[in-house]
Amino acid sequence: MIKSRACLLESKNSPLVIKEIGLLPPKEKEVLVRLVGAGLCRSDLNAIEGHTRYDMPLVLGHEGVGIVVEIGPSVTTVAPGDRVILSWAAYCGECLFCKKGETQLCHTVAWPRGSGKLPDWSTRFRDGDKEVFHFNGVSSFSEYTVLYETGCVKIDNDIPDGIAAVLGCSVVTGVGAVLNTAKPPAGSTCMVVGAGSVGMSVIQALRISYAGRIALSEPDKEKWPMAEKCGVTDFFEKFTPDCARSITDGLGVDFVFDTVAAESTIADSIIAVRRGGTVVLVGTPHPLSTVTLSPIEFHVEKKLIGSLYGSSNPGVDIARVIDFYKKGELDFDGFINAEFAFEDINLAIEALKKSGGKYFIRFDKKTAEAG
Ligand SMILES: [Zn+2]
Ligand SMILES: [Zn+2]
Repeated sequence: MIKSRACLLESKNSPLVIKEIGLLPPKEKEVLVRLVGAGLCRSDLNAIEGHTRYDMPLVLGHEGVGIVVEIGPSVTTVAPGDRVILSWAAYCGECLFCKKGETQLCHTVAWPRGSGKLPDWSTRFRDGDKEVFHFNGVSSFSEYTVLYETGCVKIDNDIPDGIAAVLGCSVVTGVGAVLNTAKPPAGSTCMVVGAGSVGMSVIQALRISYAGRIALSEPDKEKWPMAEKCGVTDFFEKFTPDCARSITDGLGVDFVFDTVAAESTIADSIIAVRRGGTVVLVGTPHPLSTVTLSPIEFHVEKKLIGSLYGSSNPGVDIARVIDFYKKGELDFDGFINAEFAFEDINLAIEALKKSGGKYFIRFDKKTAEAG
């Protein structure tokens, strides 16, 4: 067992506690990674605020970048020394969904993941002899973590740490929602609800898909200039079906990409698309939310489709996003609100609570600054 300083969520709505805990070696198809950086976003806050069903103590963090230290038996795609992006969308490769190529729906990994366990239904973190649980199968707020091989994607050294740390979650989700789930034909009129990092990724993927028009509804006007740079053509402060009608001679748009996924935005999206149009549910709805929809909307061939992790396979889609990035077709400048040292993680969480957005947690920031 190795020692690792980790951020523990011990009870709902409490600050994270940084503590040295134990980490058992990787088992079959598992990888031990030393973290360089981690991304902090809304999903972590959901766990802190008690909107998830994880047991505690829990090591938070669901996205990150690091170096492979050790591999377990049967690992073939990464080796010690490799630089890897961590993804929560690991998959088994053997279940019905994986065989169909729908790895994002793999239940073999998702069910234990939702219970704070690795795919073999056990944990590797220990506080004394007490079990400590894994968040989203990643737990990147720890100097070291163990995760399933398919959640580790090898990358080159020329991708900046901050971008690498956040690529595996919101960027892949947003880009995949367009390129994998919806596949809008060139010239489509599209509306994006919300300009967080998922929304900004949706917008850019629409631009590279030659969408005819990209409308955005986003109340925070400070995000508008960046959204315009990403490809937005029409701006609205508040999302209503009338926004969509106002740019389509009253018909409604071809696609709405709802990254907010609130009860009201889902209900309005169905009205905002034209007859035969498609609503893509990109954001994660609250598990207890309900929406009332009139079936007549579907009688005129409107569609409401889900998109989990942008229907992406980390191994395939992270590589594709990096390819676009290197060619300058996707740009992530300004995606990260601020950088914090690992030791200051609670300050980062306060910033997230106050302003939303995405934060980069750097593990060696304090030592680098001191030296
Ligand atoms: Zn599977
Ligand atoms: Zn995330």
